[in-house]
This record gives sequence, structure tokens and C-alpha cells, in this order.
Amino acid sequence: MTIRPLGLDPSHCLIAGRWQVPSAGERIALINPSDGSTLCGVAAGNADDINAAVAAAQAARDGEWGRLTASERGRILARIGVLVAENAGHLAELEALDVGKPLTQARADVAALARYMEFYAGAADKVHGSTIPYLEGYTVYTLREAHGVTGHIIPWNYPMQIIGRSVGAALAMGNACVLKPAEEACLTALAFGELARQAGLPDGALNIVPGSGAVAGAALSAHPGIQHLSFTGSVATGRLVQQAAGSNVVPVTLELGGKSPQLVFDDADIDGALPFLINAGIQNAGQTCSAASRILVQRGVYDQVLSAMAERYRALTVGPALGDPNVGPLISLRQKDIVTSYIDAGADLSVAATGQIAEDAPAGGAYVTPTLFGGVPPSHRLAQEEIFGPVQVVIPFDDEAEALGIANGTEYGLVAAVWTRDGARQMRLARALRAGQVFLNNYGAGGGVELPFGGSGLSGHGREKGFEALYAFSSLKTVAALHG
Ligand code: NDP
Repeated sequence: MTIRPLGLDPSHCLIAGRWQVPSAGERIALINPSDGSTLCGVAAGNADDINAAVAAAQAARDGEWGRLTASERGRILARIGVLVAENAGHLAELEALDVGKPLTQARADVAALARYMEFYAGAADKVHGSTIPYLEGYTVYTLREAHGVTGHIIPWNYPMQIIGRSVGAALAMGNACVLKPAEEACLTALAFGELARQAGLPDGALNIVPGSGAVAGAALSAHPGIQHLSFTGSVATGRLVQQAAGSNVVPVTLELGGKSPQLVFDDADIDGALPFLINAGIQNAGQTCSAASRILVQRGVYDQVLSAMAERYRALTVGPALGDPNVGPLISLRQKDIVTSYIDAGADLSVAATGQIAEDAPAGGAYVTPTLFGGVPPSHRLAQEEIFGPVQVVIPFDDEAEALGIANGTEYGLVAAVWTRDGARQMRLARALRAGQVFLNNYGAGGGVELPFGGSGLSGHGREKGFEALYAFSSLKTVAALHG
């Protein structure tokens, strides 16, 4: 089977508005994680292709794209959003085949991408500077300006959502973008590029160079023609990207995942919490930066919560993405090995329950059995490290102080949730938890395009999503006029 996103040859890069064979003519095989088959060959871009993409982006900034007004940029983004929605079925199928994402989740990602375009379309002409009262005879005001050319290095787990939140915001502010999708999942990135062309995005405003991280990613992050970098992925690669940004002295947004906790207190609405406790762990087979991989439960309801979670785990179906199971395959056999080694590292722990891999799941698929561990010590490796698979640990606690200590007791700080009916406790913990987002009696708030997102510690720094991203993708100029 050769997959053709929107009829395109997937072995091309998008540079200066044209689909081009990468300069060395090389390809990377794209694997369907549901069965191990090859979907197609995608471009293996190199430093020359990145150079050409950055030059095309700079030309767009200096040309038609740079001259558009904010409202004209917004209209183009709105048209892209409409085209994304019109092609929702095709995009969801591409994502399911490429990422192994169950169809329901893939459809939700398409809807989120369309919504990002709608949101940033509407926001593009609403970012204002200000006037500053100053000395006698002066008028002082600020201008919000695009950085220029922005680099976007994205992972394989949520290609469409991450394109929406980073490329969408960057384009809204008038930047010209160079996007390096993950070599393991780039079909929807290519389709997005084609839809942007069809929507009338000027040539060079968005350039897409698939390729390996070590070659294309490294060339992009070290390129002196880039004025801002946005990276989502692992801590190890994030460090490299930050070092490269540092040598060019450009700002970087890093979103590096986490070990996010949900805290369940004795007075919580347990039935209301249960779907959130489970879904936030197994969504996208646990390959989610904001996965709730630690569930902290107060001892008064600990047995009740653990047995209810175990019952739901036993009912989880695992199988090929197009069959729309609860849990699909992991992205690759490499990722399966990583996650399996974590499950093996829990041999000294108690397994509360596992899900079931469908008997007819193809042998070449990257399937892992969802696994729920109970009574896990907070210092255990499985309670400290990001696993990035369908594995959750349940940890008992006695009181609020202990819960807070455990929750803040990892090197990460991305997302947290608190389940309690005690309003004062909600307010105390919302302040005290180390996280970029805190949810009270819910988890994720439906993924909210509007909600600023990002972390601290090993989870990274900077914020994307919402209006806040528009500030990240622009810089402030102060103008002081002495007129007497
Ligand atoms: P990476 O961080 O290596 O990949 C993320 C992106 O960075 C990809 O586009 C990758 O390219 C690119 N990249 C890789 N090396 C470089 C480099 N030297 N310079 C610039 N860019 C580079 O993650 P992995 O795919 O290796 O996943 C490993 C682990 O990372 C996972 O198990 C998980 O723990 C974590 N992760 C976290 C994510 C999150 O959402 N926070 C997302 C994905 C992974 P390419 O893949 O094409 O080589």
C-alpha cells in the first residue's frame, strides 16, 4: 500500500510553495504501527533542504506574506481551518494509519486542529501594543512584532494538535515557519501544508522538511536564520535544541512531557473522577505529554478507587487503530521495547490489573498490554520516570501535606488534577502544585485550545496554546518619541 495524503507524493518537501524532492533524493520508510507494514517512503531532508526552507521563509517575510495585515493573515488561517474540517475523514484515517491512533482519537485531533486555526484566525488582529505614560514631552508606545522565521520541531504523538498550537500561533503573528515533523509520523503535516497552499497561504510562509532528527532537526535548530524555536519531545533532545538555540541566542519554547499526578481525596466524587483517571492514562496508548501516569489516592477511598480502576483496565481493548479500540499500538517497536522494559522494572510491584490485546491483533504491531500497578512507593522508578505507554501507578497517601509532597516529588511539572469537594483545599493545592496547568475536579478540560499550556523543571519552559502563545511568537518593541 502506498499512502498519498490528499493525493500528494509523500516523499516531497514543501519549500517556497512547491513540493520538491529532497536534495539528496533520499527517503525514510514510514511504518504502520498497527501491523508493521510500510505505508510509503517520506522525504529524508538534510541541511541543504533546511537551508532552502529557511531562505524561502525569509523571502516570504520580506515579500507578500510580510506585507499582509493581521486581519488578512487571520482570513487565511480561517480558510485553512475550514479545509481541515472539510477533509476531516481523510486526515483522521492518515493519523490512525501513521500514529496508530484509534479513529475516535484521530478525529478529535482533526477537530482540535481546525479549532486552533479558527482560534488563531480570530486572534490575529487582536494583539495590541500599549501606550506608556512617561516624561513631559514624550509619547511612548509598544509594538508587537513577529520574530521573523520560526522553527518548529514536533514529535509523532500528536502531530496535528502540535502543528495547530505552534504553527497556528506563529503564522497568526506573521512569522514564516519551517516545520520539521517526526520521521515516524508526518503524513498529516504534509496534508496540512497542502491545505494551507489551497487556502492561499503565500509561498514560503510555511515550509515543511521531513527527515531524521539528527540530520534535519539538528540543522534546523542550529540554523542562524531562525529567530525562534518551538520544540516538543524528549528531555534529551530538548537539551540539544536549547543548546543550539543558545549558541544563536534565540528564544526557545520547550515542551518535554511529564509525570503528571491526579490527587483523589476521601471526599471526592469517585464516580465522576473514574473516567478521567483512566482516560488520562491510556489516551493515545499513554503517549501523551500530559498523561496522568500517577494516581494518588487518600487511604479512606484507596481500595474503592483501585478496584474500580482495575475493573476498567480489565475491560480495555487493544488492537489496530482503524478498528477504533480503546488502546491502539505504540508508535514503533522501539517504543514498545522501552515501555515493556518499564513494565518489567515493576516486577517487584503488585499488578492490580491489565487490559487485553485482541487475539487477532497483527503480530507485527507494536502492542503493549495496558498495566495498572497498585501500592507503588513514590520513589520507585515507575513513579518517577516518564514511561510514555499505557501504564499507570496508584500511590496511597494519608493527608494533604503528604499528597502535595508526592505530587511535587518528581523532576517534572506539567499538569496536575485535584479531586475534592473542599473548596479551600482546591485553592491551596492549585497554588502549591508544581504544574503549568491545574485541573479541579476534571482532567484536561477537554484539551482546551484556549488554555495556555507548558511546564517547569524537566517538563520544559515557555507557553503555547491560547492567547499566551501569541506573545511567545512575537517580541515587544518600545518606541519613545520626544516631541516637546
Ligand atoms: P525526540 O525528542 O527524539 O523526538 C522529537 C522530535 O525531535 C522529532 O521530530 C525528532 O526527529 C526530533 N529530533 C531528534 N533528534 C534531534 C536533534 N538532535 N536535533 C533536533 N531535533 C531532533 O523523541 P523520541 O521520538 O526519540 O521519543 C523518545 C521519548 O521522548 C519518548 O519515549 C517520550 O518519553 C519522549 N517524548 C515526549 C513527547 C512529548 O509530547 N513531550 C513526544 C515524543 C516523545 P525524528 O523523530 O524524526 O528523528
